[in-house]
Amino acid sequence: MSQYPHLLEPLDLGFTTLKNRVLMGSMHTGLEDRPWHFNQLAEYFAERARGGVGLIITGGFAPNRRGELLPLGSRLSSLLQVGMHKKVTSRVHDAGGKICLQILHAGRYGYTPYNVAPSAIKSPITPFKPKALSTKAVYKTITHYGRCAKLAQKSGYDGVEVMGSEGYLITQFLNARTNQRDDEFGGTYENRMRLPLEIVRTIRKEVGENFIIIFRLSMIDLVEGASNMEEVITLAQELEKAGVTILNSGIGWHEARVPTIVTSVPRAAFVDPSARVKAAVNIPVVASNRINMPDTAEEIISSGKADMVSMARPFLADSEWVNKAAQGRTDEINTCIACNQACLDHTFQAKRASCLVNPRACHETELLYTPTHKAKRVAVVGAGPAGLACATVAAQRGHNVTLFEARDSIGGQFTFASKVPGKEEFLETIRYYKKMIEVHNIDLKLNTWVAAQDLKDAGFDEIVVSTGVAPRIPNMPGIDHEKVVSYQELLGKELKLGKSVAIMGAGGIGFDVGEYLSHQGPSLTENKEAWFKEWGVDIDNKTSGGLAAMEIENSPRKLYLLQRKTSSLGRGLNKTSGWVHRAVLKMKQVEMIGGVGYNKIDDDGLHITISNQDGDVLEERVLDVDHIVLCAGQISVSELYKELQGNHDHNFGLHLVGGAEFAGELDAKRAIKLASELAATL
Ligand code: NAP
Ligand code: SF4
Repeated sequence: MSQYPHLLEPLDLGFTTLKNRVLMGSMHTGLEDRPWHFNQLAEYFAERARGGVGLIITGGFAPNRRGELLPLGSRLSSLLQVGMHKKVTSRVHDAGGKICLQILHAGRYGYTPYNVAPSAIKSPITPFKPKALSTKAVYKTITHYGRCAKLAQKSGYDGVEVMGSEGYLITQFLNARTNQRDDEFGGTYENRMRLPLEIVRTIRKEVGENFIIIFRLSMIDLVEGASNMEEVITLAQELEKAGVTILNSGIGWHEARVPTIVTSVPRAAFVDPSARVKAAVNIPVVASNRINMPDTAEEIISSGKADMVSMARPFLADSEWVNKAAQGRTDEINTCIACNQACLDHTFQAKRASCLVNPRACHETELLYTPTHKAKRVAVVGAGPAGLACATVAAQRGHNVTLFEARDSIGGQFTFASKVPGKEEFLETIRYYKKMIEVHNIDLKLNTWVAAQDLKDAGFDEIVVSTGVAPRIPNMPGIDHEKVVSYQELLGKELKLGKSVAIMGAGGIGFDVGEYLSHQGPSLTENKEAWFKEWGVDIDNKTSGGLAAMEIENSPRKLYLLQRKTSSLGRGLNKTSGWVHRAVLKMKQVEMIGGVGYNKIDDDGLHITISNQDGDVLEERVLDVDHIVLCAGQISVSELYKELQGNHDHNFGLHLVGGAEFAGELDAKRAIKLASELAATL
């Protein structure tokens, strides 16, 4: 019997049956926006259908031009577009899958000068003030939803999903904070519900009974002046009456101050509001957000909290997720670590999405791991993210790979990252690679510092150097003082530091170290209730929007976060998760200082000069700290490569990847991508 009987049980919708309870949630990949990308889009979905997903939802398509997310972005409004959508639906159906098209009207979130909304109120996250829709234009918009659904049906889709959450047009109509209309679409909640209900009725009329209509309902808005649970349930019941087949869950608006999908959000944190809705309706309800592994998904279904689970990013990370779960190969799942670095960060920069742990995502037709015709002996030196990715892909293709690691464990920089509270998911990637080493018979040699001569003597055909990075040690008086530690020592040896600490360097690692040092006790990621308190979430949503006062646990020590630049600290952090890191350190009252000149370190502490952007000295300070943690960037460790390169008569292929190649851009996304691309060509 399967380990996940509830998750893998078919779901009978009356006129059609889904083969399991796994929904691949909507995710804008960037491939939807241009007709010439539809072959790639079709293969991206087909691969997930082959991987066993019960039902796929496409990225959002606007029902009309005014509803576009980006100028000339994805839209389905004309018969001329049906042909390209047929490529997608036929590939998915041939692969044994089912697929629905998501209809998304961005409303005031449209990044276009021609966006529209219930009222002319600008969103805090887009630069364009929307035009208020006239009553006539609202009715016209409803017909456009109907037209879009009909076109989806003609294109061969199994249904549509109406995007009614995350702060897009429908949510804007539902909530008084964005709806100040005085016609039949504004005022009372009954009036504000009119738009989604009319949309569903219109779609049902257009498509008939045997067509899936999913409504993505905002279960908890997480913004002020928004719906409470009672209103959410009323809407859910009305939507059921209007003809919805399945209710999916949306959590929080994009402008919410509460994180809902980043890695520090506890797994399945937001399932309870969906469970309340499920108890009040007779149609299937889908739970979503931070569900990334089968155990969590199975628990949600078996406990009766939802009928299905929705996951989007986990299918970028691993297209075979469902098959692996079904075949008892859970430990082979390449887990989404919720970093957002290659998916949402890309989407918000109008770049094609991919995945940090799986660079093939959305590049299925371009990055191919084809079996080799000539098995080679490949040495990979260094088992950090780059080395692990390279070794895995090369071995998967049929090469004989030996992986050397000087430390006693694999993981490199990911091992340090996993020590940071809220970054425990990084351990899943290390677990995945451990399993891949076993599955692909990679010869792992731990505690092995391999010399150039040894590699040459061993007669490898290809040598890949992925020896990583070492912390940069700034050149300044007192840098050898006993107060000074590197971030690698701090995290690697789990050092106990004093009551006041200065962090030199405010890049990604400086912020990580700030979170590590400002926290005590178990990580909040392991404790939903404590996490809700810290972020001020009323998960019962008795108040409007589900917000409560934040109850922040004090930092156990005084922290200073420093950088030489005068720009605001944390500006260079990732687009969609950087704001969370900045908010956490602000909550913990970390003193952030820019424009710092480092003078010396002595028994009194860290002596600094603070200047403004014109170079004028504002202040000389001595930070009376017990410790100073160096987070001043990295330098490449590439001596081995230079030695091997210096040998001109070598008859092996020599390659340098990851931080060892370019520490300035040390980042796991780049390291894994380039290492995988290299391994695909060996
Ligand atoms: P980084 O982002 O390049 O930051 C290095 C910091 O050190 C900067 O604040 C820099 O600012 C300072 N610095 C550079 N040279 C210095 C010197 N000689 N003396 C004193 N300070 C110096 O590097 P990182 O923090 O080590 O992170 C490395 C990479 O890891 C990043 O590129 C990122 O991709 C990834 N990462 C990201 C996250 C995240 O986004 N949450 C977390 C961890 C790691 P000043 O020059 O202004 O002083
Ligand atoms: Fe998940 Fe990160 Fe991959 Fe996005 S880039 S799918 S968040 S692992």
